[in-house]
Amino acid sequence: MVSPPPLVGISTSEVRSPGDRELVSQGEPARTELALGERYLDAVRAAGGMPVILAPVSPDSVETLIGRLDAVVLSGGPDLHPSAYGAIPHPQLGPTEPDLDSFELALARAAVTRGLPVLGICRGMQVLNVALGGTLYQDLPSQWEGGVLKHRQDTPKWQPTHEVEVGDGSYIARVMDRGMVKVNSYHHQAIRDLADGLVVTGRSSDGVIEAVESRDLSQRWLLGVQWHAEAMRGAGPQQERLFEAHVSAAEHHALRRAAA
Ligand code: MN
Repeated sequence: MVSPPPLVGISTSEVRSPGDRELVSQGEPARTELALGERYLDAVRAAGGMPVILAPVSPDSVETLIGRLDAVVLSGGPDLHPSAYGAIPHPQLGPTEPDLDSFELALARAAVTRGLPVLGICRGMQVLNVALGGTLYQDLPSQWEGGVLKHRQDTPKWQPTHEVEVGDGSYIARVMDRGMVKVNSYHHQAIRDLADGLVVTGRSSDGVIEAVESRDLSQRWLLGVQWHAEAMRGAGPQQERLFEAHVSAAEHHALRRAAA
């Protein structure tokens, strides 16, 4: 019997105000919208998962939501409000959505507690770190001493602009079959203090944390990348393998859930 594809919930945290979009004739009127890049859906589908876009729900309902999913992708989005990790806002902090932060942090914690495989991308990796007790640099250009690389590129997302050295023996090095990965870069924030449950497995040449994974992958499948892997699938199979590994972990979780 062929199992149905695992349900992979994808968070979305980018709010578009009514004025952010150009109105088209016969189109929808101006409204507040939640936006999620289509590439996330393509990446999950191509890897064999069934993508489910997650609406933010109250923290009380997160458990109910999580109980029906097999895995979670924490997607990219705006800056996290620093109150989430006990810091005061830095002058270069970008726009934030504290209500969506609360949902995503609760989602990440519930997913980790329940043993769902979590793939964090860009902001999503930062959310995972903060959800588990870590902190962030709010603005690399003004807070990162070793800063030489441009981490917020102006070129299209499929274009790699810097490299990440991934650790020998790390899970991500095995999955991507690379010691050096070419990545895009669309962030001005980064992990500062690492959460206890995570290990750093990739850094750019200036030392910025670009990849993390679970301290114990056999217990908890957690993987975070600071780049937008979903937008680089055309660059070769390495980026796709991240999603394939995640969906494969989701299948295992679904089997465990069915057996429980
Ligand atoms: Mn970067």
